[in-house]
Amino acid sequence: MTNDTPYLFYQSRNPRPFLDHGEGIYLFDESGKRYIDGSSGAMVSNIGHSNPRVLAKMKAQMDKATFGYRLHFRTHPSEDLAAKTVAMCPKGLDRVFFVSGGSEAVESAVKLARQYALATGQGGRYKVISRFPSYHGCTFGALDLTGYEPLRAPFAPMMEGMPKITAPTTYLDRDNLTEDERGIRYAELLRERIEEAGPDTVLAFLMEPVGGASTGALVAPDSYYQRTREICDEYGVLLIYDEVMTGAGRTGTFLAAEHWGITPDIVALSKGFGAGYAPLGAIVASSRLVEPVLDAGGFQHGFTYAGNPLACAAGLAVLEELEDQNIIENAALMGALLKRRLEDLMAHFPFIGDVRGKGLLLAFELVADRGTMRPLAKELNAYTRLVEIAYDLGLIIYSRRTRGGLEGDHFLICPPLIITEPQIDELMELLEASLTRLAD
Ligand code: PMP
Repeated sequence: MTNDTPYLFYQSRNPRPFLDHGEGIYLFDESGKRYIDGSSGAMVSNIGHSNPRVLAKMKAQMDKATFGYRLHFRTHPSEDLAAKTVAMCPKGLDRVFFVSGGSEAVESAVKLARQYALATGQGGRYKVISRFPSYHGCTFGALDLTGYEPLRAPFAPMMEGMPKITAPTTYLDRDNLTEDERGIRYAELLRERIEEAGPDTVLAFLMEPVGGASTGALVAPDSYYQRTREICDEYGVLLIYDEVMTGAGRTGTFLAAEHWGITPDIVALSKGFGAGYAPLGAIVASSRLVEPVLDAGGFQHGFTYAGNPLACAAGLAVLEELEDQNIIENAALMGALLKRRLEDLMAHFPFIGDVRGKGLLLAFELVADRGTMRPLAKELNAYTRLVEIAYDLGLIIYSRRTRGGLEGDHFLICPPLIITEPQIDELMELLEASLTRLAD
């Protein structure tokens, strides 16, 4: 079916049917066909579609005011959402600044870091070290920090060179190190890069705690998280966690950082934070950073729609649902179950080379050979074919053909965090049928 429009355009032509409505983990097109939203859109719809309590709270706010410019009025939804966000984040992250999306959050985090440096006599610090592979957004600055060459290459040269380090790709490593040692080895690359760049010029280190679109749910060894935090402290480099995808409960804790007991200096949130009910994002930072910036004349930054009452009412209702319905606990439980079920598939499908992830940020990777993890030939087009077969059967999954510098087909399986055990059975049935068709 082609519903191409002569007017609206995205990255490419859009052959998809028209969306009609959503309900929980399901989406329905105009013909009445039902789909399991196995990727929560783009890892967004954490509390599912059409949540009645969220919609009721949004409607109540709509009846009062949908917009009030933040320089003209304080609003209860924005202040209440900020308070709720702080309450749900680890101690030490106690100040919130709102934005409307993930790229905006990443750039805001970097600008706060920079203004903190300027306000504290560290103006020589401007370099932000990020990683290969990584994804931090599509605006010019966020893209410049992204370690994902196919996206950057068309726009080169970009901004003044930002150094990057290699992120752990443990499932590919063929060394004799323990997990612990490997984590340290990769973390120490950060030290090398800081030394190379000149320690007094390095402002921040930016990382996704669990890689999303770029790596397909790659989790680093525990030691990596501890050691990178220590190195940042040692050099006075700010640690920024891009939790745009991992935040708001996706990995089974509110922030993924909690799995390792890490408190980053700044955290970027979006996606599940507004959960598809509003374009919403935030940075959360410690007062230690924010106060000197405010003292020095204020944060020179802000988007028109930032902190608008309707988006914040939606975000507040989303966080309340996460808490009241124990949705984050459910993500941890159902995530463990779904991961085991995906691992079980490996017995039937020899071309599944790896299953990985945390909570309900899960992925599997298709390979030509499990021993070497050699990727499937590009010509097989598995990353498109499997998505299309699944879509046909009524299951939405999210694919990418990349794993850093290498080519590889991985598929993110990230249903809404409200998924139940019977719904996991349903999802797995469709996934298994899709893989069987792919193998035929
Ligand atoms: N950071 C991460 C980790 C992401 O996954 C994304 C979106 N995929 C972004 C930033 C950018 O978010 P947005 O598309 O809302 O700008």
